Amino acid sequence: MAPKAKKQVAQRPQPQKRHYEFGGPLGAAGISFGLPILLYTFTFLCNDVSGCPSPSVLRPKSLDLETLKVEVGWPEDGIWGLASWEATGYTLGYYLLSALLYRILPGKEVEGTVLANGGRLKYKFNGLASALFTLAILAAGTASQGANFPVWTYIADNYIQILTANILIAYSLATFVYVRSFSVKPGDKELRLLAEGGKTGNMLYDWYIGRELNPRVTLPFIGEIDIKEWMEVRPGLLGWVILNFTFVAKQYRQFGYVSDSILFTSIVQGAYVIDCLVVEPYILTTMDITSDGFGFMLSFGDLVWVPFLYTQQTRYLSTHPKDLGTLGLVGVGSILLAAYTIFRLSNAQKNAFRTNPNDPSVAHLKYIETKAGTRLLVSGWWGIARHINYLGDWLQAWPYSLPTGLAGYQILAAGTKAEGALTMVDGREVIAGDAQGWGMVFTYFYILYFGVLLVHRDGRDDEKCAKKYGEDWEKYKKIVKWKIIPYLTPRRTLLQKPRNECTEYEIAQLENWEMSNGPLSILQTAVRGHSQVLISIRSNRKLLARVKAFDRHCNMILENVKEMWTETPVTNGKKGRPVNKDRFISKMFLRGDSVIIVLLS
Ligand code: NDP
Repeated sequence: MAPKAKKQVAQRPQPQKRHYEFGGPLGAAGISFGLPILLYTFTFLCNDVSGCPSPSVLRPKSLDLETLKVEVGWPEDGIWGLASWEATGYTLGYYLLSALLYRILPGKEVEGTVLANGGRLKYKFNGLASALFTLAILAAGTASQGANFPVWTYIADNYIQILTANILIAYSLATFVYVRSFSVKPGDKELRLLAEGGKTGNMLYDWYIGRELNPRVTLPFIGEIDIKEWMEVRPGLLGWVILNFTFVAKQYRQFGYVSDSILFTSIVQGAYVIDCLVVEPYILTTMDITSDGFGFMLSFGDLVWVPFLYTQQTRYLSTHPKDLGTLGLVGVGSILLAAYTIFRLSNAQKNAFRTNPNDPSVAHLKYIETKAGTRLLVSGWWGIARHINYLGDWLQAWPYSLPTGLAGYQILAAGTKAEGALTMVDGREVIAGDAQGWGMVFTYFYILYFGVLLVHRDGRDDEKCAKKYGEDWEKYKKIVKWKIIPYLTPRRTLLQKPRNECTEYEIAQLENWEMSNGPLSILQTAVRGHSQVLISIRSNRKLLARVKAFDRHCNMILENVKEMWTETPVTNGKKGRPVNKDRFISKMFLRGDSVIIVLLS
């Protein structure tokens, strides 16, 4: 599928100057091994056996491991029970089905953005058709067998083993693409490239952040697959929807009814996913595709984090149903509508403007021309804040979590007859009890995490744009002052920013600024204009010279130097008349600590 490069520019894969993100190798290790543990912790501590959180956790003083194991439903065969060949096989089968649908179903071919080597990759998009096909099969199964349709019962019963299978796939995939990235050659005919941020030379970090920009594989019968684009929009995103409906079915099996809250959350999240698939080609201009390599960060994010973290609310509601009522539904629905409007319209506006600036919907908008050749909008949605689309996206997280209310529940034995308890089909009772509020750790975590992700992403994008647009980006930031939330995230100029908070690029910018505007600007002018300077140095000497080069310590290389000084001869103990002396030196190095005054002549 990869067309020939329009212009082959040699790409050197040697390690670059290290510029780490996410806390460097330590941060990468923490995320790579900490986040899977966090997901297991969430799964066990908020469960359908004893409560959310498990009662022992609320009484840490009397916490004992054996009781905790029973309360959280720890597998009988211990840690090995976290995985199973069968669940791993079915999970791989799900990936295979997605690959087959990718191959069989019709799709449109779209060219990606121009790569650093001048070429453009082709992508086949049929994620929507593939998702609708899969959902149609699930709908048919549900119509004939109801909540007991085996897909729903199998996923619910083997949730932890399916989670493990996806984690293992994410680790394996990241390792596969990392190892394979070493076969990327300069001027590769298949347009293979290394990602800018992924060739630091630190193995763990590069494995995490992603070494190869657009890894692709060709599979028998399936054909060529762009691993990054495929993983971003296929198994995980649809997995999110499937898991949500698994929990709707589970709620029905446990309580005999489906609450409006779980339906609301599943439907709106399903709509979000379908919406992403409707505009699947938009992904080609996102940072993930254009700049990030594919490593563990994306493989884990796509295949594990999205489906398993984003479904914490429906997982919770499946065992503690909440009835929102008309007023509640209108409340969360309104927040969602407002958030979605901001998110969708702002993204669509940028996309329309970048695709065809003369489109009547965007032709009236103001923009600045940049030296990089692209235009930056400064009015409309993009004039309100530099990432107003992130605000819309983040606000959408709230109505996902709000239906869980003051989350937290305890599961009591059948026949307890506790006041206000919800009774399960098997007789067990569910009440908020002492756990009320503590379950929010699980159901509202998404809002917190997503906020952190978007703020961090905004910082990364700012750095990328500062590099790409230089002065134009500074000019743009003067016009559009706010980062994500208008009036809340004021722009600090670089000069106001503490140096230890500056990125490498910002420090370089600051140094450039100091050279052009600070005291050293005299020397810069002298170098550029090849003009003469008069330098007064220690030992009462003066130098008339041209400055060839200098650094910020005032060390200089001088040319055509006339050194001048005054000598007072002493004869018979008496001082004579001072005599002016000079000499010519064609080239010399002058140490900065001997400089007293520099005058531009
Ligand atoms: P954006 O869609 O905001 O794209 C940023 C890029 O747009 C910049 O790098 C720049 O690229 C261009 N740009 C910036 N300012 C302007 C302007 N004023 N006018 C025109 N172009 C401009 O970022 P993302 O790719 O991060 O996000 C895309 C969407 O995906 C967002 O809505 C985000 O919320 C969502 N998202 C969702 C996630 C999830 O987990 N649900 C995770 C991450 C993102 P250029 O070099 O082309 O100028």
